[in-house]
Amino acid sequence: MFNGRYGMDELSRFMLIISAILFVLNIFVRVRFLWVAAVILLILVYSRAFSRFYDKRRAENMKFLEMKNNFGRKKPGAGAYGGGFQRPGAAKNDGKRVLICPYCKEKLRVPVGAGTIKINCPHCHQQFEETV
Ligand SMILES: [Zn+2]
Repeated sequence: MFNGRYGMDELSRFMLIISAILFVLNIFVRVRFLWVAAVILLILVYSRAFSRFYDKRRAENMKFLEMKNNFGRKKPGAGAYGGGFQRPGAAKNDGKRVLICPYCKEKLRVPVGAGTIKINCPHCHQQFEETV
C-alpha cells in the first residue's frame, strides 16, 4: 500500500498525536475549531504519507526535527547545577578553606593552593601565616 509512497515519518506521527489530542479535547470542550484542526491535521498526515514528493516531505521532516531539538534543549545555566545557588555552610568545596584565626578564633575563608600566605584577620587585625 505504501509502495513508492513516502509513508510515515516523525512529523506525521507528531501530527497524528496532536490530532488525537484535539479529538479527545473536543469531547470535553465543545469547540468546533478543535475538531476542524484535528481533521485538517489528519488530512495532512495522510496526504504526506501518500505523497510522491520524497524530497519535499523529507525537508519538512528535517525542519520539524530541528525545531523539536531546539525546543527540547535546556536554556544554558538553568537547572543542571542548581542555578549556582549555594547553601550557607557548604562553602568548603569552592576552592576555599576555612581557617580559624589563632588570636580571636574567628572563621576566615582563604583560597586553597596559594602556598604559605600571610593572613590579615579582618576581625582582630592580627597577622598570621598559614600554608593552604
Ligand atoms: Zn582574628
